[in-house]
Amino acid sequence: MKFDVKKAREDFPILKTELKCGHPLVYFDNSATSQKPLSVVEAVSDFYLRYNSNIHRSAHELSENATRAYENAREKIQSFFKADDSYSTIFTRGATESLNMVAQVWGGSNLKPGDEIILSEAEHHANIVPWQIVSEKTGAKIKVAKIREDGSFDFEHFLSLLGKRVKVVSVAHAYNVLGSVNDVKKIAAAAKECGALVSVDAAQSAPHWLDALSGEIDFLSVSAHKCYGPTGIGVLVGKRELLDSMPPWQGGGDMIENVSWEKTTFRASPARFEAGTPDIAGAIGFGAAVDYMNSIDSEGAKLHENELLARLADALSEIKGLRIFGWAKGKLPIVSFACDGIHQNDISTFLNTQGIAIRSGHHCAEPLMKTLGVSGTCRASLAFYNTAEEVDIFAEKLSRAVKLLS
Ligand code: PLP
Repeated sequence: MKFDVKKAREDFPILKTELKCGHPLVYFDNSATSQKPLSVVEAVSDFYLRYNSNIHRSAHELSENATRAYENAREKIQSFFKADDSYSTIFTRGATESLNMVAQVWGGSNLKPGDEIILSEAEHHANIVPWQIVSEKTGAKIKVAKIREDGSFDFEHFLSLLGKRVKVVSVAHAYNVLGSVNDVKKIAAAAKECGALVSVDAAQSAPHWLDALSGEIDFLSVSAHKCYGPTGIGVLVGKRELLDSMPPWQGGGDMIENVSWEKTTFRASPARFEAGTPDIAGAIGFGAAVDYMNSIDSEGAKLHENELLARLADALSEIKGLRIFGWAKGKLPIVSFACDGIHQNDISTFLNTQGIAIRSGHHCAEPLMKTLGVSGTCRASLAFYNTAEEVDIFAEKLSRAVKLLS
């Protein structure tokens, strides 16, 4: 049965928002953050309205309810990412914090001068800068795997970088600018042959129901807000044994076993890495987002997204002067483009006057912009609740923008 996009849109009240410009909203900025279904908004407000309380610490009924909801959310998320008991799911502030935790805590305590870290050319700053910081501190060296012309990962080049000195490989499952999807299981298998740790940034792939985990992946970083959940919450799904061998990240309440002036001891993961009162409502909202994603016909949604992508690519190929970046097979519905002689911000500003939300700039991928030879791009990023009509409106208005601004 064909994916019922009209029905899916009913779950997202914001899609009916009236804009100042008077045009209907076309929301094509989903890679920056996705919209939230009513069930997620209700799960968050329900917590504050009916059982707001701190978790893990009190014997009273509200606290018990809050603790149960928080821990249920953790279980749901862990199973959504198909992580078995050898993994532990830690709540973080998002993919950025998860990646920082891997780099600073694992990297900070395991890397030494002469060790090597492999990243790739199209990473988001969240998977570059934390490694640069740790490389400064430890003396480990960063090596960069190349991207091919079509935006796909150059596996042969990656293989040529591997060797005994490589201690960690950290790559995105899908790129936020190019939309290409990496075969992270294959990358992980090759990395493991050298004994390297494997960290995967699943911020962009998770919202599209793409499974990343294989037993060879040690860490998976995700943001809830790109998966139809709240902002400010995410997870680090990590190998339990590894996590428990790592020193704590922050000290404070809940992460300790015993505290004394002489010696303080720490709990096992996940508590070990969740110091202080966490974002309880956010975690519960993330759990509701995962429930929502589980309720969607994911195969139908993926097909629908692919049809939208094909329609968009066709329409954009008709517009003279556009350069599209990334056309690898199997890519996500993310299209980045530039138009010679027109600044990317002028295009997005014009589109905003027509009710169309896209993103322009370097998308936190400045090294990639350098490779592409541009200061920035425009990026249209679609979700399953977008429609063919929206793609047509977008293509028509973009064509007008290019004519007007040329
Ligand atoms: N990794 C990728 C590929 C991203 O696209 C983003 C955000 O756009 C991040 C990491 C960082 O996510 P957050 O800002 O939610 O921490």
